[in-house]
Amino acid sequence: MNCLLLNPEDLTAPGRARITGRRFQQLKTVIRAEVGKRCKVGLRDGCLGFGTICSMGPDSAELEFVCDVPPPPPSPISLIIALPRPKSFTKVLHAAVEQGVKRIWFISSFKVEKSYWNAPRLMQDAVEEEVTLALEQCCDPVSPRIEFRRAFKPFLEDEVPGLLVGTDAFLGDPAGTEPVPSKVSRPTILAIGPEGGFTDYENGKFREAGFRSVSLGARVLRSEFAAAALLGRMNPDC
Ligand code: SAM
Repeated sequence: MNCLLLNPEDLTAPGRARITGRRFQQLKTVIRAEVGKRCKVGLRDGCLGFGTICSMGPDSAELEFVCDVPPPPPSPISLIIALPRPKSFTKVLHAAVEQGVKRIWFISSFKVEKSYWNAPRLMQDAVEEEVTLALEQCCDPVSPRIEFRRAFKPFLEDEVPGLLVGTDAFLGDPAGTEPVPSKVSRPTILAIGPEGGFTDYENGKFREAGFRSVSLGARVLRSEFAAAALLGRMNPDC
């Protein structure tokens, strides 16, 4: 936990918060919190700053804080990714959130196993917890919007055209002929396929919508590594 994120329900008075549960345990064991110790804090969906621990109980800590530093700028890149297997889902989530991506759609595709959609890791509480861990890791208090689309065709035909207005769009593809653009500054949507890749039909739908196939080279990377590598190349502040 590089930054303690404060939620509205933690606030006990202006500039004061009470921390319990996992964050309190981490304060104690990782940051070795004691009265007077300072730590980096962030107000959920607000600014960053510092807190000072003013009291420690057996189950909670009280701190005073000042948050007046704006959060890091969001990535201009949004991500559309075919739902990967559950363990990879968590890794993709971390790779994207820690690189400042603020909008992610996990979508269905012919080669996405139906059982993945029932994974406990996709439950709302589990996703929120993982997002919080990622935001704490990268010291960014601003929550991303995570969405799931279980129908490929309506998403590509009905939603994506609206999302692409004023936006560049790229599809990661080991066989792509264009190189991956580096340090993009315009709003951009990046699409990444499932373990077996998108079908020809699905690739055609992305092309019809205006996506250009870009490649990091002929080596085929797993979805989570492709997400990290593509975002690392494309993000302006990486
Ligand atoms: N057999 C599939 C194929 O050739 O597309 C492999 C899919 S790969 C496990 C999952 C996704 O990661 C791909 O659909 C693509 O979006 C992305 N990816 C993997 N390697 C890549 C590379 N070298 N360049 C660009 N994207 C890549």
